[in-house]
Amino acid sequence: MLEQAATRVLTCIQCGKCTGSCPESGRTPFNVRMLVRKKQFQAAVDEALPWYCTSCGACTIRCPRDVKPSEVIIELRSKLVEDGDIPVALQKALENTFVQKNPWGRSRNKRADWVEKIDFEVPHVSETQSKRLLFVCCIQAYDPRCMVIPVNVARLFHAGGLEFGILGEEEACCGNEIRRIGEAGLFEELEEENKAAFEEYGVKEIVALSPHCMNVLKKEYGDMGIKVVHYTELLAPLIEEGTIKLPGSFGKKVIYHDPCFLGKQNGIFDEPRSILRAVPGLDLLEFSRSREVSLCCEGGGGRMFFEVEATYQRNAEVRVLDAVDRGAEIIATACPFCVMTLEDPATEKGLAVKELSEILMEVL
Ligand code: SF4
Ligand code: SF4
Repeated sequence: MLEQAATRVLTCIQCGKCTGSCPESGRTPFNVRMLVRKKQFQAAVDEALPWYCTSCGACTIRCPRDVKPSEVIIELRSKLVEDGDIPVALQKALENTFVQKNPWGRSRNKRADWVEKIDFEVPHVSETQSKRLLFVCCIQAYDPRCMVIPVNVARLFHAGGLEFGILGEEEACCGNEIRRIGEAGLFEELEEENKAAFEEYGVKEIVALSPHCMNVLKKEYGDMGIKVVHYTELLAPLIEEGTIKLPGSFGKKVIYHDPCFLGKQNGIFDEPRSILRAVPGLDLLEFSRSREVSLCCEGGGGRMFFEVEATYQRNAEVRVLDAVDRGAEIIATACPFCVMTLEDPATEKGLAVKELSEILMEVL
């Protein structure tokens, strides 16, 4: 992979499309084109710079020479990880993931505690006919704000007659953020552990709750011969064909924020919108920058676990101001990281942030 990167960076023509599309460029010291240039010459890089990248993927999508600048950043980070030159909070997240298989270091045997909030039994995937696995992952399993997502999605699947199971304590962190922090070795361990469980229990389909998990399971675990989807891809047709009925009403102006790992990186733009359009009474609005050019919330690439020094306006604040301009009352999204980054600035401006399943539960 390193040789491949070395060859790739040599094809860079310094056109600047990567920097032009980067949500961190212009208002921070970070310049991805310059870092690719430095990689071309194997020149020294200021160790603070690679951590600004949010892994939004915009640069890699726009690059005309397939340099994959976002992968170049991961390689620069790998070197810093190897040398121990990484922010303390990230080091802690890596250690926690090594020990407890989640970046927050919460006990692994509490990974399935969210099922206690459900009034029907959620089986182990091995006990299902469908071998459809609901891949919950860390933030949804442990964070009190995000734990509502698996609870809601489980209820919605139940309402739609969709059979599914979980791995419970046997599930490990998907590793999407770990790979992007630059810890390739730990990522491989997580990948092997999860793949062994998928194989042992004959998993045929994986439904991810977070776009970050969906991305890594679908594109970076190699060819597992298992279908991987985001939960909105299963819910959209069930709602459209009327299998899941939404009898309530949600009379609010809702603006949809495209998560980078769902939208621009995996092309899932329509399913979340089709779900929102099916909610009775809901008035769906669009940001000035939406779909392929949606502005990153800055929650990815390890930024959930540490704060970069910032004297500038956060993207989440820019996003909230745009939502206010458009007349929105609620920002809806389909990613736990987006919920976490948008919620504080939104609350300050009197807006609510809702994960899509939260809106659905209000009208189910
Ligand atoms: S977009 Fe690609 S070719 Fe252009 S400067 Fe960036 S890395 Fe180089
Ligand atoms: S992945 Fe996004 S944040 Fe990172 S360098 Fe590319 S455009 Fe910038």
